[in-house]
Amino acid sequence: MNGYGGSILRINLSKGESKREPTSPTMARDFIGGRGFGSYFLFTEVPAKADPLGPENKLIISSGPFSGLMIPGAGKCDFTCKSPLTGGYASSSLGGLFTAEMKYAGIDSIILEEISSSPVYIVINNDKTEIKDASTLWGKGTITVEKELKESLGEEYQIIVIGPGAENGVHFSSINHDYGRQAGRGGVGTVMGTKKVKAIAIRGTKPIPVADMENYRKAGMALFKACKDADGLKPWQTYGTTIVTSWCDEVGALPTRNFSAGSFEDGKNLYGPVMRKEIVITDKGCFGCPSPCGKYSRTKKYNSYVEGPEYETIGMLGSNLGISNIEDVAQANYLCDELGIDTISTGGVIGWAIECFEKGILTKDQTDGLELTYGNVPVILELIHKIAYREGLGALLADGVKVAAAKIGKGSEKFAIHVKGMEQSAYATHNATAMLLAYMTCDVGAHHNRSWAITYDLQVGRELVVPEKVARIIWLQNFRPMFDVLGACRLQWVELSIDRDLYAPALEAITGIKRNWEDLEKVGDRIWNLNRMYWIRENDGFNRTWDLPAPRFYLDPPTSGVTKGQITSLEDVNKLLDMYYQQRGWSEMGIPLSGTLTQLGINELTYTQ
Ligand code: SF4
Repeated sequence: MNGYGGSILRINLSKGESKREPTSPTMARDFIGGRGFGSYFLFTEVPAKADPLGPENKLIISSGPFSGLMIPGAGKCDFTCKSPLTGGYASSSLGGLFTAEMKYAGIDSIILEEISSSPVYIVINNDKTEIKDASTLWGKGTITVEKELKESLGEEYQIIVIGPGAENGVHFSSINHDYGRQAGRGGVGTVMGTKKVKAIAIRGTKPIPVADMENYRKAGMALFKACKDADGLKPWQTYGTTIVTSWCDEVGALPTRNFSAGSFEDGKNLYGPVMRKEIVITDKGCFGCPSPCGKYSRTKKYNSYVEGPEYETIGMLGSNLGISNIEDVAQANYLCDELGIDTISTGGVIGWAIECFEKGILTKDQTDGLELTYGNVPVILELIHKIAYREGLGALLADGVKVAAAKIGKGSEKFAIHVKGMEQSAYATHNATAMLLAYMTCDVGAHHNRSWAITYDLQVGRELVVPEKVARIIWLQNFRPMFDVLGACRLQWVELSIDRDLYAPALEAITGIKRNWEDLEKVGDRIWNLNRMYWIRENDGFNRTWDLPAPRFYLDPPTSGVTKGQITSLEDVNKLLDMYYQQRGWSEMGIPLSGTLTQLGINELTYTQ
């Protein structure tokens, strides 16, 4: 199959066996690859109501048809499973070099099944797969283990690894790679930890078949040239995602003190130029990236090295916790990386805990004597350790903010900032209704990367609740995640304004199948609806209340900074949902209608499972 590795590698961990099967052309036609394959395998293979931490759950690791080829940023790898954090669909994307090596080893998806009786790591060298004892690696940090494995196996191996957080069952554990890249969201690392797989190392040397080599070369060159000529290249390369920190602060989108505001009075100390000057050593990119956004940094205060912090981490472990020194944020970032826990969720649960403490809902008896206050760096760093090892208060926070708030109660649910159990990523949405809807309806919980619309909110009118905004969100949700399906980075389109139509000829030349963006958006719509059906199947009584945001965004005005343009009632939130369901072809309870599923070709699939 042109553009594909050609096989699915299944690893049964309880039996210690692996086998390969050919990649299905029908699945490739309908779901293309990456998170499309993940959604398909999750829905069709993981039994309904499976325990996310049990043997029936699977971890599905997928590349796409662009992965490993000369397309800008073609190093995106998708991790899909049932989420231990939310109980629904989880998919998290990882940049770097792992997915290219999968394709060179002839693999489109690796599926981890069952549970090993003892810690193992997996070594894949082209057609050979070995399951090895990891007892000496278990308990160690992600950066430490990656280094050790590179030293023993060779630099040419690409490695994904989990840390102590996943080993200890923290529900928002990450899978790490390349000393600083993470698939962080939804607990994909937790599932790898439950299966007792410490790491996977992979190496491949096979060619990837391409349908039309000459046109592939031309289309790839056109994309790289567009990146090279883009006006936005220089600033993006200089600052990476931290380019938006100052802008978010200005427009009221920078999460501050548990999202109680969207502007931080000390925000200037965290802006991109300050970070570049103070701590950045060099730039770092994924496979085939012409615009590396990774910033590799060193802190003088802690003498630690970290990839980052990128914007999300600055927001969640910086302003959201009242921390205003970039070195402190970098150190918190380093700890989360080495311990293998998601920086976004970690910032979310700690922000909630601090607010509980300040309101007297949590007392020193419950915080192991810790004085939880915003900006208290030593306490916050200690709490990150406690979460990863589930010690004391850390054990409560390790299950995520939704579960923690349900246990503590006393009104703390109102400022637990999540949707469907996933902590909201780093955009305050008091006064950005399209972005609020994007979080409410995102298919994994409150994550921004499916649909990002704050500039659109500003253009159209922040508080407006209008069908145009809803249509924009649906279009983005169908379109943006397609980059994760294809196995390439979306940021060249987002940040360098690369014409998306340049990707279609490349896809055709690689796979031999002609598709325009309308066709690709239909695939995106299909995957979106399949994921929605997964939530419904897994959660009895699933309905529109699952799509509601944290009340903070419509009940509490921001305490400082930008205060205009806020929606102020649940009624407005519900209006947004009504319009969204109607435009999606869903019932007023948020359930896809049979006609919608039929049109997308998944009625049979979803109702016979
Ligand atoms: Fe990776 Fe950033 Fe380049 Fe995207 S822009 S491929 S995330 S380095």
